[in-house]
Amino acid sequence: MPELPEVETSRRGIEPHIINKKIINVIIRQKKLRWPIPVSLKKNLPGDQITSVSRRGKYLLLKTSKGTLIIHLGMSGSLHIVSNKISAEKHDHFEIEFSNGKLLRLRDPRRFGAVLWTRQDTSKHKLIEKLGPEPLTDEFTADYLYQASRKRKIAIKTFIMNSHIVVGVGNIYANEALFTAGIHPKRMSHRISLARYQQLVEVIKKILHKAIEQGGTTLRDFSSADGKPGYFQQKLNIYGKVDQPCPICNQTVKHIRQQQRSTYYCSHCQN
Ligand SMILES: [Zn+2]
Repeated sequence: MPELPEVETSRRGIEPHIINKKIINVIIRQKKLRWPIPVSLKKNLPGDQITSVSRRGKYLLLKTSKGTLIIHLGMSGSLHIVSNKISAEKHDHFEIEFSNGKLLRLRDPRRFGAVLWTRQDTSKHKLIEKLGPEPLTDEFTADYLYQASRKRKIAIKTFIMNSHIVVGVGNIYANEALFTAGIHPKRMSHRISLARYQQLVEVIKKILHKAIEQGGTTLRDFSSADGKPGYFQQKLNIYGKVDQPCPICNQTVKHIRQQQRSTYYCSHCQN
């Protein structure tokens, strides 16, 4: 599933190809994504241009003079920049054609992604309004997490994966961050000290930064003709390592499920 680093990598990958380029056509091949793609895009976008490409959480925001296109990659979505001579494949559901002969194409086999349109301020949009701070900004601090956790009697892993608390800490990153910070994933969030939150916040920022940096190395493939997405796999210390030795103490890594998501941890190194 595309996580925040992949979405940020996509943003950086598509931006130089589509910014300030004139839109000449919009093609909707399959409008049934998570929500229907608004047909009005075919009327609203042509003739206009994209003036900025930003991101909030895992939502990509493509601003035009009339409104903003909100794109979410869901479980399996990917964006590609291709020549308009490259024909669409089975799962290429949506595309924007620019006057320079390039297409921004959305491929989404599982169709949990979304393409939406709003004329309002995107920070007030119902999908975005209640999102917690961006993890890589100064708003995301140990103090913030500590205060937000005081009245929440929930496991720390569930807490940091809640996008109303902080955006972008997906399952793999939550597992890795808790392992590196030495915090047991089932520890109650309201019983964690400020000092430990300090460590956790630093680790989360570091892991996400590193993932985005690694994603950057795939950018050159972004507009490749074969349309392969610019995603990447980073080195994992704990995720998926069930029954393997912990990289720190050699004890066997354990696996449980929390909120239907896989959790891997070392009961010796995490408490
Ligand atoms: Zn260990």
